[in-house]
Parts: sequence; structure tokens; C-alpha cells
Amino acid sequence: MSSPTPTLTAPGSVQADATAGGQIAPSPARGLVCRNCGATFGLIAEHACAECFGPLEVDYDPELMRAVTREQIEAGPQNIWRYAALLPVGQDPADRVSLDPGLTPLVRADRLAAELGITGGLWVKDDSANPTHSFKDRVVSLAATAAKSFGYTKIACASTGNLANSVAAHAARMGLPSFVFVPSDLEPGKIVQSAVYGQALIAVDGSYDDVNRLTSELAETDEFEDTAFVNQNVRPYYAEGSKTMGYEIAEQLGWRIPAQVVIPMASGSLLTKVDKAWRELVAAGIVEDSDWRIFGAQSAGCDPIATAFDNGWDVIKPVRATGIAKSLNIGNPADGPYALDAVRRTGGSIGRVGDDEIVAGIRRLARTTGIFGETAGGVTIAVLCQLVERGLLDPAAETVVLNTGEGLKTLDPLLPVVAPTHHVQPSLKSLREAGLIG
Ligand SMILES: *Cc1c(COP(=O)(O)O)cnc(C)c1O
Ligand SMILES: [Zn+2]
Repeated sequence: MSSPTPTLTAPGSVQADATAGGQIAPSPARGLVCRNCGATFGLIAEHACAECFGPLEVDYDPELMRAVTREQIEAGPQNIWRYAALLPVGQDPADRVSLDPGLTPLVRADRLAAELGITGGLWVKDDSANPTHSFKDRVVSLAATAAKSFGYTKIACASTGNLANSVAAHAARMGLPSFVFVPSDLEPGKIVQSAVYGQALIAVDGSYDDVNRLTSELAETDEFEDTAFVNQNVRPYYAEGSKTMGYEIAEQLGWRIPAQVVIPMASGSLLTKVDKAWRELVAAGIVEDSDWRIFGAQSAGCDPIATAFDNGWDVIKPVRATGIAKSLNIGNPADGPYALDAVRRTGGSIGRVGDDEIVAGIRRLARTTGIFGETAGGVTIAVLCQLVERGLLDPAAETVVLNTGEGLKTLDPLLPVVAPTHHVQPSLKSLREAGLIG
């Protein structure tokens, strides 16, 4: 590529707030750091280390993080931007390109807890309540805001489905063209919810891993030089959006970190960022330090991180992904090693469940909480059950499980197993024959 790598405003710089006429808190981000070798870089649009090709992550100024207070956060907007002082971009509201996701319900799940014998308290963090009905709105809001700051004129992604929905919706809101690449065998609900925004939707005959390889090659072409690939060149900024899930859980529990959390994994990024968010809150003095254990959830059809965990490996052996939990079907998960580290360091574990258990998990969550989750939610609930049965999760400790997406997007596996309980004619006689009245 010929053009120089775009860079964001110098770290710590203060911009005037045009809307409020006052000063805006500076971005606490001071650069990017390689998670593999520790090399440091400016706030550039790159996701791989120039020294070792390791993944780059946003690095923050601890002084600026320590200056953040609960009161300041609580006075902020009712969405992810209340945590702007802990994020790399979007301090100035005028810079944000966002559907303003976040502050989704943290639902106390007493009936589910009772069924499973959990006595310490159980909550479901329900991210199906986001604008495009999955947690991906959090990451895309950060990616789109970074894309605008870098001066990109197009936005693109490779997606297992929910990212596609969110990128297309954000692009429509921005008025910028987007190019969304998905496996052609995606669920119809996710195809429709991507296509409806009138943006380019490219269905590729291949797996997500094939699609991801294709977009990596595409990013190197002249035609796409001016494009922000949300999970490639702006990935370090994108990934930080997942921290807001961790911040919200802590705030909604009354500024406390739960003892246990169960998180579904595709690339493994969300899991690592929830852990990062909690470590940051402790380091910044916003919550008290405590021990927490992080549990990962995968499907048996795509379980490379679970397999590495079981075998004690530090590296991930890629798999060919199958099964109904398509949003989690990443066979070669980029953040797998870091997810393994977070699970092992906190004394957690990783479970895997088959398709029938996933469907049962969706139904159990719906029946006991009124929340209809997508297949990824079914994975998480089924793994929660399994962890309790295997004695790996402490039933007496506070537990939070994440429902990361909406069930209406993945109806196919439910159609054969749920249906009207009665079918009648519009008469009391018919209701009587059906046994509903005497
Ligand atoms: C993308 C996705 C995940 C997992 O995200 P990673 O950060 O890639 O591990 C979980 N649930 C749903 C519904 C998703 O769309
Ligand atoms: Zn490196």
C-alpha cells in the first residue's frame, strides 16, 4: 500500500467541545501495544505487530484512567458512551458514529437459578436489547467512530452474521458505503437483517474462515485502500467496545464484580475484554478488587479453544466449524490464546455443548426468564448447566451469564421443536374438544 498509515490525534490531546462549549476529557489511549512481544506503536490503523505479527491492543495512560470516577460515569449518557473516558475514541460526542448501544438489562434469573441449584444469585446480561439485537453494536460503534477519525470513506467486514447486521446498520446511519462479506449458508434472519439496509452484502461460498481470508486479501487492493475493515485494520479499536459489557455488569451490580461469568466464544475477543474491563476498573480504583472466575462456552461443532483448554495447549489448533451456533463458528480464533490465558489465570474452565443441548438451552432460558436468545445464548445456558453438573461452577457464588444475541435471528433450529400447543376452530365447541374448557 502506498499511502501512509493513518494515525489518530495525539494521545492525551484535549479537543474543544463544540456542543457544550467546554473541555472534553482527553482520550486515555496512548498507543497500541503488541500482545505478543510488547512492542509499542502510535494510535495507527493496524492490527498486527510490524515486529512479530502479534495482535495489537490499545494501551492506556493509567494516570488518566485513575482520574475517572463513578460519579462521572453515572452522569453520562444511557449507553456505552458513559464509559468514553475509558475508551480509545469517541470522547467528543460530535466524533461518535454510533447507534448508541449498551446499558442493556441485567436480569435477575431466580427461576433459572432454582432449576440449576444455584443459590448465590444468577443474572442474565441481555444484549439482545441492543439496536441490531446483538452485542456486536458495542464493537461496531467503536470501529465506526475510529474509521471516521482515521478519515476512511468506506467500511467493511467479514462476519458470522451479527457483525454484518451491525456494520450495515451503522453504515446506513453514517451515510457511508459498506461492504459486508458473509458465508452464503447464513441464517435467513441474518441475511435479511443485513440486506435490508441497502448496503453491499456479499455472500461467499465458504466458511467464515474462508471469508476472513478473502477480506484480508481484499484489504491489500488499491480499490479498498480507503476502507476500514472493522475486524482488521481498525480491530484494536473495535475490540475495545467489548469492554463496555464488563463495565456495565459491574455498574449494574452496584459497582461490584461478580464471582463467576460465563461467556460465549467465537474469536475469543469478548471474553478477554470483559476480563480486561474488570482489571481496569480495579486498577482505576472504581471497584474494589475481588477474585473472579471466567468461564468460556463453545459448541461441539466449533470447539478449538475448548480443546486447547482440555489438552493444556497454549496454541489453538484450527478446526472446520459446523453446527447451528453459526455466530460462534470461527474455526481459527484470533484471540484464542488470550482467552485461554484469561480462563486459566482466573481459575475458570471451558465447556462445549452439542446442537440438541443448544436448542434445550434456548428453550430453558426462554421458559425461565422470558428472554429469547439466539443459538449463542443457547450455547451459554447449556454450558452453564454443564459446569454446574460437573462441579466446576460454584452454585453458592454470584454468577452472570451473557445472552449475546436475539432468538428471532436464528429461528431454524426451533421450528421443528416448538409449535402451537393447540389448533382449534373459532368456537367454544372446538375449545371444548381440545380440552381447554369443560
Ligand atoms: C460474535 C459473537 C460472539 C463472540 O464474539 P467473539 O468476541 O468473537 O468471541 C458471541 N455471541 C454472539 C451472538 C456473537 O455474534
Ligand atoms: Zn509483536
